[in-house]
Amino acid sequence: MKQLLVMKFGGTSMGSAERMQIAANIIATEQARRPVAVVVSAMAKVTDLLLETLRRAELGDRQVVDSNLRTLLERHVEACDELLGTEAASKYHDLASQAVQSLVAEFQRIANGVLMLGERPPRSVDEAIAIGERLSSVLLAYYLEWRGVPARSINGADVIVTDAVFGNASPIMDLTEQRCREKLVPLLAAKTVPVVTGFNGATRAGQPTTLGRGGSDFSASILAAALDAAELWIWTDVDGIMSADPRLVDNALVLNEVTYAEAAELAYNGAKVLHPRTLAPLVDKQIPVWSKNSFNLAAPGTKIVSKLDQPKGVRAVTSMSNVALISMEPANSVLSGTRLMARALDALALDNVEVLVFTSSSYRQSFCFLVRKQDVPAALEAVESNLQLELAHGYLKPIEVDENVGLLAVVGEGMRGTPGLAGRVFTAISKEDVNIIAIAQGSSELTIGIIVSRQGMEKAVRAVHTACELGMKKVHA
Ligand code: ADP
Ligand code: ASP
Ligand code: MG
Repeated sequence: MKQLLVMKFGGTSMGSAERMQIAANIIATEQARRPVAVVVSAMAKVTDLLLETLRRAELGDRQVVDSNLRTLLERHVEACDELLGTEAASKYHDLASQAVQSLVAEFQRIANGVLMLGERPPRSVDEAIAIGERLSSVLLAYYLEWRGVPARSINGADVIVTDAVFGNASPIMDLTEQRCREKLVPLLAAKTVPVVTGFNGATRAGQPTTLGRGGSDFSASILAAALDAAELWIWTDVDGIMSADPRLVDNALVLNEVTYAEAAELAYNGAKVLHPRTLAPLVDKQIPVWSKNSFNLAAPGTKIVSKLDQPKGVRAVTSMSNVALISMEPANSVLSGTRLMARALDALALDNVEVLVFTSSSYRQSFCFLVRKQDVPAALEAVESNLQLELAHGYLKPIEVDENVGLLAVVGEGMRGTPGLAGRVFTAISKEDVNIIAIAQGSSELTIGIIVSRQGMEKAVRAVHTACELGMKKVHA
């Protein structure tokens, strides 16, 4: 849609009535100029609260479930009162508070079901945790209406059609485009702002799904692509994409521009500022993306573009801590290492286990791969059942799992033409006495992934950031 701006507000940008008022100001200003569609996260920490409540429900801990439900209700009732508590707004206050009560009751019904069953079926979890976004979306939409900005809360499940991988679903783009044409385009044409819940979707058959933690960024990019938006702005709590996680590195710098490829690598390798799959839907259509700070409107933010005139060397260092390294080694050279790798990867793919890094080396063709910690049981189950006979007959050594590791990644389009860079990075890490366990560099030379011992990861990030001079000078795009 011509000139359409899609804006996504993250958890902290929706974290209180005050933050929602600022979001509404931004929406009102932009909506006066062009069509605007909005995607919202749940209020900060609400998704954690919902997940924890379901976990406690599974354990039969009714007290905690009840107390969490009270917290959930109070937090949203308080925001509702602050946003719409005046006499003049009473009509919108009543509508919003009724919606809040009934959404909390919906969550309570699912939590009660989990309490009774003593288990958390993945599809019920997805249905329940999307309620965080549905709550924030109704609050913002009614507040916008009260402010005179026509708006409508939309459940992402009604517009984003996904596969049935609960907890980490992928969009089916043609069906999503069709739903967007039916449900969102008429609203936009009538100058009404759709306030769509991030994070969730539904299968063709209508079963609720979610897109993985942090998935509201992905929802926004799916909708921007489906609606042929002119731009996507992602509002968060830092000035843009930075040379490192500012919580780890004091002097991390905001990057003025990064490429889609760089941003995708950064996100994939742990930069929480973007969900790993955010960029994929946008690349084909070349939709420009901005990462902006709703706490600092004066900061220009980071622009994500298709190409930089002069690619710079290293742009950023990222890290990931909740990971585990799984190592496999044939006991002798009778087995084809390549075939073993193929079978292991095939088994992992079939069970939807994402392999973050894969390396292999040596005459014996031992190999190892990095997965998220939460995926370790599924990964082991997948490879062990596929290679049952080889393990039982001792052709394959017992599979090893090392959970005491972290991933550090160095990212930049221009690294290709920078000789000596890998040496500088490895020297910086070893000077800190941090053990390097495995290394992976793709032929694109866009990223070097380095698996290090977990306890040394943070200091390795700081050392590499300094050695690559990322924080010492202003990084111009
Ligand atoms: P939101 O709720 O808006 O989606 P997130 O908490 O998911 O926000 O992502 C923003 C956070 O990402 C920042 O507060 C910052 O701590 C973290 N972060 C990690 N790596 C980076 C990076 N390279 N650049 C910017 N922020 C980063
Ligand atoms: N609320 C979801 C989460 O916390 C999605 C998001 O905020 O992007 O994971
Ligand atoms: Mg996020």
